[in-house]
Amino acid sequence: MNKTNLNFDNTYTKLPKVFFTRIDPTTVHEPGLVILNKELAESLGLDAEVLQSQESINVFAGNEIPEGAYPIAQAYAGHQFGHFNMLGDGRAILLGEHVTSNGERVDIQLKGAGRTPYSRGGDGRAALGPMLREYIISEAMHALRIPTTRSLAVVTTGESVFRMGELPGAILTRVAASHVRVGTFQFAAKFGGVQAVQTLADYMIDRHYPHVADEEDKYFSLFKEVMHRQAQLIAKWQLVGFIHGVMNTDNMTISGETIDYGPCAFMDVYHPETVFSSIDQQGRYAYMNQPFIGGWNLARLVETLLPLLHEDEEKALELAQAEIASFTDVYQSYWYAGMRAKLGLFGEEEEDTVLIDSLLTLMQTNEADYTNIFRALTLGKLEGMPLFETPAFKAWYENWQARMDRQEESKEASNQLMKENNPSIIPRNHRVEEALEAAEERGDFSVMERLLAVLDDPYAYSPEQESYTTVPKCAGSYQTFCGT
Ligand code: AMP
Ligand code: MG
Ligand code: MG
Repeated sequence: MNKTNLNFDNTYTKLPKVFFTRIDPTTVHEPGLVILNKELAESLGLDAEVLQSQESINVFAGNEIPEGAYPIAQAYAGHQFGHFNMLGDGRAILLGEHVTSNGERVDIQLKGAGRTPYSRGGDGRAALGPMLREYIISEAMHALRIPTTRSLAVVTTGESVFRMGELPGAILTRVAASHVRVGTFQFAAKFGGVQAVQTLADYMIDRHYPHVADEEDKYFSLFKEVMHRQAQLIAKWQLVGFIHGVMNTDNMTISGETIDYGPCAFMDVYHPETVFSSIDQQGRYAYMNQPFIGGWNLARLVETLLPLLHEDEEKALELAQAEIASFTDVYQSYWYAGMRAKLGLFGEEEEDTVLIDSLLTLMQTNEADYTNIFRALTLGKLEGMPLFETPAFKAWYENWQARMDRQEESKEASNQLMKENNPSIIPRNHRVEEALEAAEERGDFSVMERLLAVLDDPYAYSPEQESYTTVPKCAGSYQTFCGT
């Protein structure tokens, strides 16, 4: 055990050498702790006091390598906006896997820790704003009960990074079930062949899907499991209005966690074509496209597994195609189940899909705020929003009430279900910006602390959350930026 209490193991480094490069973080001038996630630390069996010591801060900054760590950069490839590229950790360094006393295993990775052989033209560094943004949104996602990588700490480096201007440098300590991506399989297929893909698949089965290990067609089972987790994950995104923004295959995990909080943002006004990312000119990763892109990415994954699915090439392809073809239905069943819960509906009726779809159409035509409509329905406070005054909505409302009257469950049970599935608040873009501005420009972290505190229980429906539910008039013009 080292002084940070991190209990390292390094199973990833037992994979063939093509999968990674041994490399230390580049030391920084003056590490300073900005934020530590005490709740996460404790859930990992780490002592929050210890993690605030200078020695731990040096570890978070990459200036000291803790005992038991074996720092590496992972190799991977990926389709970026549809184009295949060789990638790899260009600015992230994996220290190792922390194993908790319950046997839970998580990657501990430093993002912004310096150049690696995969940096290409990049500086290997990260700016404070984007790292705090990842911290805020990933923790908000966790509180929304959406599988995600977590953020343990952010430290400043005392060095500047140069983007559109000079910005303070920072490093995020990211915690993940693992960092293996669809793009890692693409890398294995291209540079290691079938043997490398099989080794990686076995590693993923062992780490995330051990229950399929003894199955005869375990590689097909692995794929089906990943597909289901991704379908479920993307359904959860859609249900809260989360737009990932850069669903490249290297940003889709095998574990089923959300990863890479670059240009992501939450939708305010409901519109299926919402895009925030400045570089997504074609709207490839628009809100409504996310499920389709999920299926597209999974097709890239199953392609790498083909030789392991069946010795007969054509049979393998048939199996893969049939499974991929089922993705939309799998996704939709998760999504409709989630929507029923948002509307307090138990059981299933055939007409539910019409009820659900027509509410969304009403929101779109009336430019209604997605989160606040469900919040108002949950609270039964149908005033103050133009949508509620329209005859079309009133007719919809009658149908919804009639549907509820037909179910056996009580009104209270229905309302409880809605409370558990409709967040009262989300990380509103203007609130996130306000927190980052205070931190970056004034060194004032209190705005972010308050935001994090309310986002910690988005289903609380507490009075403190009230002021975080307002939407600015120009919400639609919000833009996000990648890779800073
Ligand atoms: P992303 O768009 O965040 O998924 O990043 C795509 C690729 O660019 C990954 O391989 C990153 O490691 C790499 N990358 C992003 N920013 C930097 C940077 N500042 N320096 C080096 N590599 C970077
Ligand atoms: Mg990425
Ligand atoms: Mg990124």
